[in-house]
Amino acid sequence: MSDKGLLVVISGFSGVGKGTLMKELISKYNNYALSVSATTRAPREGEENGREYYFKSKEEFEEMIKNDRLLEYASYVGNYYGTPKMYVEDMMEKGKDVILEIEVQGAKKIKEKVPDAVTVFVVPPSAEELKNRLIGRGTETKEVIDARLARAYEESFAMEDYDYILVNDNLSESVQSMHSLIQSVHCNTIYNKKFMNNLREDMKRFSEGE
Ligand code: 5GP
Repeated sequence: MSDKGLLVVISGFSGVGKGTLMKELISKYNNYALSVSATTRAPREGEENGREYYFKSKEEFEEMIKNDRLLEYASYVGNYYGTPKMYVEDMMEKGKDVILEIEVQGAKKIKEKVPDAVTVFVVPPSAEELKNRLIGRGTETKEVIDARLARAYEESFAMEDYDYILVNDNLSESVQSMHSLIQSVHCNTIYNKKFMNNLREDMKRFSEGE
């Protein structure tokens, strides 16, 4: 059902596990399309151009902005990040629910531009658990962990701007909850105007004895 695919914006604190959650969701169900962002940051080890990100120079990125090729973009820790417009529009038209995993400034811009977008903020079950997960990664120094926790506290003030929060406690349960949440949203009347109008038109014809 519903007229076309939904635009689903996912944000969450660093270390909350939203990347893993999204990967699981997309591999488990085939009605989702994950948007690949463009960025000017350097690839990390193991990252591939076109898979994690489209890696661009500052000039290339600014060219994309100029040519209106981005649905939104933001500057985050000294680099540009942005969502290519065409893929999102194509996939939604094809009936796929398009997932954008972006930070809070970008999410705000999407909500202004596409008010029907569904926004979800992924949170840990507790602050202590977030800290443990960041420490548990074992890849960051204490300074970096403290900086991320400080940033998480700042970002926590944006939680209320989202439509939903989703507690990421157990991975497979969270994947299920995310899927159920998105599927429930599809039933909202605002996404089914075309369907309801067609239904009514047919009923009108039948009521007239056709
Ligand atoms: P990272 O460098 O760790 O891959 O990503 C840093 C932050 O940028 C994350 O919070 C991620 O969600 C966000 N991000 C990734 N792609 C985009 C995008 O296209 N637009 C915006 N606004 N943020 C993005």
